[in-house]
Amino acid sequence: MSDPVVIIGAGQAGAKAAETLRKLGVTQPILMFGEEKHLPYQRPPLSKKFLLGGVPESQLQLQTTDFYARNNIEVVTGKRVVRLDPDGHSIEFEDGTRQTFDKALITTGSSPRRLNVEGADLQGVHALRSIAHVLAMRDELPAANDVVIVGGGYLGLETAAVMSGLGKSVVLIEAEDRILARVAGVEIAEHLARLHANRGVKIITRARLSKIVGSARVAGVELGDGTRYSADLVLIAVGGIANDELARLSGLACNDGVLVDTGGSTGWRGVYAAGDCARFFSRRYGRFVRLESVQNANDQARAVAEHMAGCKVTYDPVPWFWSDQFETKLQIAGLSSGFDRHEVVGDPQGASFSVAYYAGARLLAVDAINDGKAYMRARKALAESAPLTSSTGVAELRDSSASEKAAAWSMSN
Ligand SMILES: Cc1cc2nc3c(=O)[nH]c(=O)nc-3n(C[C@H](O)[C@H](O)[C@H](O)COP(=O)(O)OP(=O)(O)OC[C@H]3O[C@@H](n4cnc5c(N)ncnc54)[C@H](O)[C@@H]3O)c2cc1C
Repeated sequence: MSDPVVIIGAGQAGAKAAETLRKLGVTQPILMFGEEKHLPYQRPPLSKKFLLGGVPESQLQLQTTDFYARNNIEVVTGKRVVRLDPDGHSIEFEDGTRQTFDKALITTGSSPRRLNVEGADLQGVHALRSIAHVLAMRDELPAANDVVIVGGGYLGLETAAVMSGLGKSVVLIEAEDRILARVAGVEIAEHLARLHANRGVKIITRARLSKIVGSARVAGVELGDGTRYSADLVLIAVGGIANDELARLSGLACNDGVLVDTGGSTGWRGVYAAGDCARFFSRRYGRFVRLESVQNANDQARAVAEHMAGCKVTYDPVPWFWSDQFETKLQIAGLSSGFDRHEVVGDPQGASFSVAYYAGARLLAVDAINDGKAYMRARKALAESAPLTSSTGVAELRDSSASEKAAAWSMSN
């Protein structure tokens, strides 16, 4: 039997890649290894309906057991890959066993960034990435009245909305001078801050967590200026880091993410990466970007699977993202970073409006609050605009990696 395609990481991107390979008629064995005990599942409900308890665990699953069986996709759960030999085409598991491969796709996702402060290991201090994280948090919710959330990004804000809906007293701590500083414009941040304040969430900006206090269990948090807030439950939501350790230890070029070209190739023959763990070359924006979104996990995995199956593809998406907070939907098309001018359409004090971000005359992105039409128009306009560069990222990949990898790249082409 021919060596299989192995997929390392059984999540959103891994599942989409396996499904696509079969759709394209690839008949090789497909083996997908995931360290979690679950079949691939969707994560967005984790900070929304699933945290609230409104969705059963089974509904998170992306495909049924039957689907994988019918498509001859073997999903091995509870199996962590600890080493990858990109030259010898094999992977190794925690128990020391190995598996050879013809092609490997790394879809290991990302992990919550940890805060190195006193008390971070106390009982009642949580992260939010997996079903296990949510179940641990949900167990403690009935006895928790005071909730402190550290981080005013999407995850922190969505969780604050859920907790406040459950009647908890919620304090959200943000180090920057406003929420969503890295990812959305001022008007959007102010609109959402008002929404949260109206629902009783106390947002404290320019605040640094200095320690988490308590004996065995968390009792409160202390800020840099000495202010204390009591807490029965603390969520640390200060961003994600790429799970690229496996790739780094294996000698693949990484920079908070496995560096890949527009086809998802790492530069090593037959070794690819996609999803949250990959930093890919975007022709549209003319630079390497790493995206943590369902759109990117699905679309990049699909494109890379096409590439693995022998089709010449260029993954050059219009990134899009959404966030649900209370009854408000924020939708984002494009990437706004680097904008030099912006235009607000509608009234930010009202229920719906949008903000367009430009670099010169070029539209970079649109953020839309409860305005699906503006968002869809933006996606269309961005899709029709020409990419900034025609590069595929291969040269950049070469520059960023060791000379032996450059040699491997030229061998593979
Ligand atoms: C709480 C939450 C809410 C979100 N909400 C939204 C949203 O509203 N909209 C949106 O667009 N996106 C949202 N996202 C982001 C989106 O879910 C991710 O971008 C997407 O899941 C990425 O898919 P992935 O396959 O790259 O990674 P994942 O789905 O995380 O899958 C990676 C899998 O690989 C496993 N793994 C890691 N290392 C190894 C190893 N060495 N061996 C074996 N297995 C390994 C991991 O345990 C994990 O199961 C949210 C994410 C979270 C956590």
